[in-house]
Amino acid sequence: MADTMPVDENCLFCKIVAGLIPCARVYEDEKVLAFLDINPINRGHTLVLPKAHFPSLLELPDSEGESLLRGLRLVAGAVQKQTRCGGFNCIQNNFASAGQVIFHSHWHIIPRFNSDGLPDWPGGAYSDSKEMEELARSINAHILKA
Ligand code: 5GP
Ligand code: ZN
Repeated sequence: MADTMPVDENCLFCKIVAGLIPCARVYEDEKVLAFLDINPINRGHTLVLPKAHFPSLLELPDSEGESLLRGLRLVAGAVQKQTRCGGFNCIQNNFASAGQVIFHSHWHIIPRFNSDGLPDWPGGAYSDSKEMEELARSINAHILKA
């Protein structure tokens, strides 16, 4: 890994990447590390992260994309084989309102079973298709301005 890799010396996951704090390592390559979550939602719940410190998805550069996707795919497949889960959630929390606690971007691979009793996300509704189309256009306008 390049010497210029972004690091935050106060970040727990940077300390794990540096080997200063132990972890139950599942996978590692030049740019990605994966280890078991210390408080698993289900057994085998694994965290996958870029070794470099980026606080959220919004700071993550394109150059991290390929290695991260590869790490996610490898880890998810291996977790599924080992736990024999029916499926898995791949979740990333961004900012405190969404439940992010560690501000070093990371993805959760959570094994799921038909009978695991975890709640489904509630599904809402728009008042009509006009409201939905206007909202989509407004969000798209931010992308065009960026
Ligand atoms: P977040 O809520 O930020 O998306 O997720 C942070 C995750 O990190 C939590 O699921 C939490 O259980 C996990 N975690 C926090 N501290 C440690 C630790 O020291 N070691 C490991 N392996 N996981 C941790
Ligand atoms: Zn960090």
